[in-house]
Amino acid sequence: MRRIVEIPLEEVVPTAEAVLRSLGGPSDRDAGARVEQLLREALEEFRAEAEPRGIYAGVDAVEFATIYAGEGDNEAPSPLLEIFPRADRLALFAATVGGQVSDRIAALFDEGSLALGATLDAVASEATELAGVHLDRVALEEARSEGTADADTRVLRYSPGYCGWNITGQRALFAALDPGAIGIELTASCLMQPLKSISGVMVMGPAEIHDFAADYGFCSDCRTKDCRLRIRELKSRD
Ligand code: SF4
Repeated sequence: MRRIVEIPLEEVVPTAEAVLRSLGGPSDRDAGARVEQLLREALEEFRAEAEPRGIYAGVDAVEFATIYAGEGDNEAPSPLLEIFPRADRLALFAATVGGQVSDRIAALFDEGSLALGATLDAVASEATELAGVHLDRVALEEARSEGTADADTRVLRYSPGYCGWNITGQRALFAALDPGAIGIELTASCLMQPLKSISGVMVMGPAEIHDFAADYGFCSDCRTKDCRLRIRELKSRD
């Protein structure tokens, strides 16, 4: 069943530390008066413009295999191809902080307020991830209340455009989920509008199902090796 989630604004307002980290600055010492002022302004702008919402829908492994196959552009093997059959539960998802934030970022850059525009962009990116975290929590609570998840169940999200899942996979994902219901559209080049949106699949099960060696062919081009941190964090999560 498809579920639309109105996400409370305070759930997605990021910490100053997270925004500074995202901007590439120091997060553990005094950022300086100018940066602190920019952060205050950006958070104020964000609070005024954000409309965080999410949508998710459970799918079984057979349905997801077709959605994941998409237009046949994925790398094989890939982590998700190995992981999703081991999941206890799968759900397609999309989340956004809304179009007004992206419009405001573009307006700030247009009028030459580059520092504030970049800070608001970082706030919105962090907030978009927090919208995903909120959806994880809602979907996990639902699964636990239905008895299909227990205390050891964890959620990890995977998205088209990463780790071997080709960005063209967005088309099959959008066709199955219809994130247009919360205002997210897909462009011809598979970018989401509003830009500050995320989509993909939530994979639920014991943390160990996400164990894999990051030695796929495409991993040699990966600069972040982000999967290592995500899996470590997943295992340390309550
Ligand atoms: S190393 Fe990079 S590309 Fe490879 S699985 Fe991890 S995050 Fe994905």
